[in-house]
Amino acid sequence: KETSTKENNVAKIKVVVRKRPLNKKELARKEDDVVTVYDNALTVHEPKLKVDLTAYVEKHEFCFDAVLDEHVTNDEVYRVTVEPIIPTIFQRTKATCFAYGQTGSGKTFTMQPLPLRAAEDLVRLLHQPVYRNQRFKLWLSFFEIYGGKLFDLLSERKKLCMREDGRQQVCIVGLQEFEVSDVQIVKEFIEKGNASRSTGSTGANEESSRSHAILQLAVKKHSEVKDSRRNNDVNDYRSGKVVGKISFIDLAGSERALAIAIKLPLWHCRVNWVHQSVEYPVHMLRNALILRIEGAEINKSLLALKECIRALDNDQIHIPFRGSKLTEVLRDSFVGNSRTVMISCISPNAGSCEHTLNTLRYADRVK
Ligand code: ADP
Ligand code: MG
Repeated sequence: KETSTKENNVAKIKVVVRKRPLNKKELARKEDDVVTVYDNALTVHEPKLKVDLTAYVEKHEFCFDAVLDEHVTNDEVYRVTVEPIIPTIFQRTKATCFAYGQTGSGKTFTMQPLPLRAAEDLVRLLHQPVYRNQRFKLWLSFFEIYGGKLFDLLSERKKLCMREDGRQQVCIVGLQEFEVSDVQIVKEFIEKGNASRSTGSTGANEESSRSHAILQLAVKKHSEVKDSRRNNDVNDYRSGKVVGKISFIDLAGSERALAIAIKLPLWHCRVNWVHQSVEYPVHMLRNALILRIEGAEINKSLLALKECIRALDNDQIHIPFRGSKLTEVLRDSFVGNSRTVMISCISPNAGSCEHTLNTLRYADRVK
C-alpha cells in the first residue's frame, strides 16, 4: 500500500535546530545576532579575542535535517517535526520528541503547543473509517523527572516509581492517565501540568529548567469484553493495550548539567561551617549538595540520552538505557519501531555563543 510505504519512510531519527529571535533585553543591550540560518545549515559567528586583545570572529558551520530560523511559527515547527510521525503511531510506533537547549532558548515555547496539535491529529485519525471499528482511544499522562525521581504532574505531584515487566515494558506505578477525546481537555491538562512543575529546593527562578517534563499520548486498543464492563474509573486504562505512543520531553536546561556540578564545590560550604553558626551552614551544605546531585543527574541523563539515540541510529542491539532515570523511563521507546525527533533550541545573542555551540555539538553528535 502506498500510504504505508510512505509512513515507514519517516526518518528514524531527525535532528532539527530552532533559533529564537533576540529578546527585548538582548536588543536593549544591543547584542549581536551571531547565528545565520540558510536552508538546513547555519553558521555561528563566535566573537573572540586574540592575545593582543584584537577582536576577531571564528565561524562554525553546522548542518542538520532542518534548521528553523526566528521567523518560523510553532505551526511550522509541528509540520516539520511531529506531523509526519502521527500516522505511524497507529502502526505500533513509539515516538519521542525532545527539546534540548540552554534555559531561555525556547524549549518550553516550542514544546508546549506540540502535544495539543498532535492530539488534534490523533483524535481526527481515531475517527477515520479505517480505525473507527478498532476501539482505539487516546490517553494522556504528564510527569516530571526531578533529581532522579518521578512526580505526577496531574496528580498533586505524587511521587511515582518505575517498574519493568519481563517483556521490557516500562510501567510507572501509580501514574494517572486520562482518556482524552477532545482537544480542549488536552489543553487544560497541559496547563495544569505545567503549573505544577517543580518548585525546587532553593526557591530561585527558572525552577523548571532543572527537571525533565514528559507528556505522553498513547493510543490504546480496548477489547470489547472489558469495554462492556467499563466504569468511569480513571484507572480503567489498564484494560486497554498500548498500540503506539508519542512522548514530548521538555528537557532540563543543558547548561545545568555542568554548571551546577562544577561551580558549587562543597568545600565552599565547609569554610562557612567553621566560621559561622551551625544552623546556617548546614542549610547551605544541604542546598549545595542537592544542587550538585541535581547537576550530576541532569548531566548523566543528557549524556545517556545522547548515547541511546546514537545506538538507535546505528541499529545497535544493545541500547544503554540504564545510564539514567530518563532513559530508563523511555526504555520502551528505544526498542522496536521507534521514531525520535530532537529539537535543539538555540539563542541567537553573542552572549550565549558558548552554550549555543555546546547545544549544536550535542545535536551534531546525536546524528
Ligand atoms: P526555555 O524553556 O528553553 O527555558 P522558553 O521557552 O521559556 O525557554 O523561552 C524563553 C523566552 O523566550 C520566553 O519568554 C519565550 O516566550 C521566548 N521565546 C522562545 N522562543 C521563541 C520564539 N521562537 N519566538 C518568540 N519568542 C520566543
Ligand atoms: Mg522551559
